[in-house]
This record gives sequence, C-alpha cells and structure tokens, in this order.
Amino acid sequence: QARRTRRSAALFNPSEYGDPGGNLSLISELMAALRNGEFSLAYQPKYDFRAEGITGVEALARWTHPRRGVVPPDLFVGMAEETGHIRPLTEWVIRRAIVDQRALAAAGHDILMSVNISGRLLTDETFAEEVLAAITESGARLCFEITETAVMDNSERALAMIGRFKDAGVCVSLDDYGSGLSSLAYLKRIPADELKIDKAFVMGMDKSSRDALLVKSTIDLAHGLGLRITAEGVESPTTLALLRGMGCDMAQGFLIGRPKPLHALIERLNGPAGL
Ligand code: C2E
Ligand code: CA
Ligand code: CA
Ligand code: CA
Repeated sequence: QARRTRRSAALFNPSEYGDPGGNLSLISELMAALRNGEFSLAYQPKYDFRAEGITGVEALARWTHPRRGVVPPDLFVGMAEETGHIRPLTEWVIRRAIVDQRALAAAGHDILMSVNISGRLLTDETFAEEVLAAITESGARLCFEITETAVMDNSERALAMIGRFKDAGVCVSLDDYGSGLSSLAYLKRIPADELKIDKAFVMGMDKSSRDALLVKSTIDLAHGLGLRITAEGVESPTTLALLRGMGCDMAQGFLIGRPKPLHALIERLNGPAGL
C-alpha cells in the first residue's frame, strides 16, 4: 500500500495541481465523478477467427478529471479497490455497458460485452443482487473477466457467486491467464467459459519460440477442457497468423483495434467486415 501511495504521489503532485488532498481527495471525488459524467467506457474489439469478424468487446473504464486530466485505470481501479469504491464503479460500468449493448443492437450489431470484475466483488452480496437484477431486467449478454489471484483469496463464497452469475447467463473468463502462480489449481476449481492468455506471453511470441510454445500449449489445454481461448496483446500480423495456425479462437490487441468510445466502435462495425 505504501508503494502505491508513493507512486500515486509521483504521478499527481498535490502542489502542482493545487490539490492539498492529493489522492485522498481524488478518491473522495470518485463518487461525484461517476455522477458528473467524468467517467466513460472505451471498447476494445475482440476478433473471432472463425466468424472472421468482431463478435465481442472489452469495456475499459476511463476517467477524465477536469483538472488532472486522464487518470490511469490501474491507478483509480487500485485505489477504488482499497477504499471500498470498486462496487459503485463496477456497477456504473455494467449499467453503461448494458445501455451501449442495446445501442449496438439497434445499429444491427450483436456484440458480447466483457467487463472486468475485481475478485473481492465476488463475495459482495449487494453487488450480486444489483447486477443480477440489471441483467435479468435487460436480458444483456455479459462476460465477466476475473483475475486469478483475486478469486483464490476467498474461493468458497466466490465460487458460489460465480455459479449464480453463470445461471443468469453470464460467461466467465479467466483474465491474465498464465501470469499467476497456481494456474492449474485455479482451472480445476473455476467453472470458466474462456481463458484469456496474458499479453506478456502473446506480445513476445513473434520473437520468442518459448513464448510461442507456451501460448500453443495453453490453447491446447483450454480446448482440452472445452474452453474458448482469447489472446490479448496482439500487436503484429505475425502474431495474428501464428495464433490462427494454433487454432486460437479470439484475438484482442492494438493490431485489431485500440480501446475507443462507442461511436467509434459503431463506425468500425459499420465498415467493411474482418480486420
Ligand atoms: P486488463 O483487463 O488486462 O485490460 C487490458 C489492458 O491492456 C488495457 O489497458 C488495454 O488498453 C491494454 N491493451 C490492449 N491491447 C493491447 C496491446 O496490444 N498491447 C498493449 N501493450 N496493451 C494492450 P487499460 O485500459 O489501461 O486497463 C488496465 C487495467 O485496468 C485492465 O487490465 C484492468 O485490469 C483494469 N480495468 C480497466 N477498466 C476496469 C474496470 O472497469 N473495472 C476493473 N475492475 N478493472 C478495470
Ligand atoms: Ca480484462
Ligand atoms: Ca488482461
Ligand atoms: Ca491486467
């Protein structure tokens, strides 16, 4: 925690911004910022090799502060987690994603919406009630991207809650797969639909045959378990071709598209199909 505070202070020098509260005030501003429209979602497309087109997107939270400018997501997500603000933030993301999914459908695009869910929310009963109600009401098609470490912390209750979301039709994706410590134990326990192999392996696979081999083995492992696999961090055509040859299901990364606001996503989807 001390490390994060120091890093944050370096990014946002309070005196520089005329903000004596520093990041404490940043966090106290988060709730108001959600109400005031300072948050937005950026959507990053996911390319489906078999369908040869974009069939899903990942919703990524963006905070444009009126004085500080763009606040990095890793910073405000980390702070929101530590200060108990991650539930309102995530509920805001889900509500917005549901509304935007309806706008996409009205424009003729059936798009699966992936949202990032912090592991600690998987034991939050209030979160479950709110989100299950929103999903049932809207009939939205959502996928929860969950990271390994977070789920392992409080596995019994988290597993029960994952089951409830799955019953409501939510797909479960294991995010940053391969970057954690006990991947196989995790795979055995979580009823996932998708593995999302960490970009640390994918970004190097066009240069490193070891990375390529690790990706290939992970694809085969996922398929052996009946899971879909997404590679994130696809930045080069060589990587995309390698993944296609390995039988990977989905690709996400700067080559496919950067995270963009909804209107830009719709323009992209209205354009020529494929990449
Ligand atoms: P993540 O879930 O692993 O999201 C992917 C991150 O990788 C995004 O950064 C995305 O912009 C970046 N990325 C995508 N393609 C490429 C690529 O080809 N190359 C490289 N170098 N990077 C790529 P972003 O948007 O800065 O998000 C950072 C992290 O913040 C996310 O990592 C996620 O853990 C967290 N986050 C973002 N939005 C939310 C949210 O609404 N809720 C929660 N709980 N976490 C969020
Ligand atoms: Ca993610
Ligand atoms: Ca990820
Ligand atoms: Ca990550």
